[in-house]
Amino acid sequence: MSTLATLQAALAAGDVEVIDLTAPLSPSTPVLQLPAPFANTIALSLEAVSDFDEAGPAWSWNNIHTGEHTGTHLDAPVHWATGRAGRSVEQIPPSRLLGPVAVIDKSAEAEADPDFLLEPEHLQAWEGEHGPLPAGSWLLLRTGWSARAGSQESFLNADEQGPHTPGPSVRAATWLANSPISGFGVETVGIDAGAAGGFEPAFPAHHFLLGADKYGLTQLQNLHRLPATGAVLIVSPLPIVGGTGSPARVYALVERS
Ligand code: MN
Repeated sequence: MSTLATLQAALAAGDVEVIDLTAPLSPSTPVLQLPAPFANTIALSLEAVSDFDEAGPAWSWNNIHTGEHTGTHLDAPVHWATGRAGRSVEQIPPSRLLGPVAVIDKSAEAEADPDFLLEPEHLQAWEGEHGPLPAGSWLLLRTGWSARAGSQESFLNADEQGPHTPGPSVRAATWLANSPISGFGVETVGIDAGAAGGFEPAFPAHHFLLGADKYGLTQLQNLHRLPATGAVLIVSPLPIVGGTGSPARVYALVERS
């Protein structure tokens, strides 16, 4: 049997499961809130064009209004100053959007400390247990944060000091930018930690990863259903010409053991 026929048979038999890692996209999907004087992107809204009425008696359709960086979405290199000479979202080769998944589970740490920072030592310990991160892989940081996705307040978790959400340290962002991964995905609203605006450089995951032609993925869910290694990720952003990112549907293929 060919490789793809084998895959199709495994999908039909349920031996390979498709797990949706995408958060439902609605007007209440949490959206990043930058402090003044910075501008913010919009949440999703639907504008009815017709709904089985005079404007379209047999059909219903909407215009969508959304930011590129709303909900589960991909960050393209041109999103950041360090990547502005790089790829916009439609220029990302499909081969970089599909690859092996590595999951590092820091959900206990993030529950104990919402400002938890991923460090190179955590990544080295993961590699010690599971082997080197494969070329072209996607590293996903599991924090359990998606459990808060029903409430923008709890999801952004901000106080007078700013947002408190987990993410990579400056050193970890540098380490990942020098690794062979295609991209880095998180459960939180952005690929940087909530406190990362005060890091040096500010927002190091954006700074180093997008500047190294690696991509970001945010607001993932169902990461607890993935093994640490062995799954395959499929990332499907819209090919918006010149786009700095796009809402994306993200699937994982997981083999039942
Ligand atoms: Mn983004």
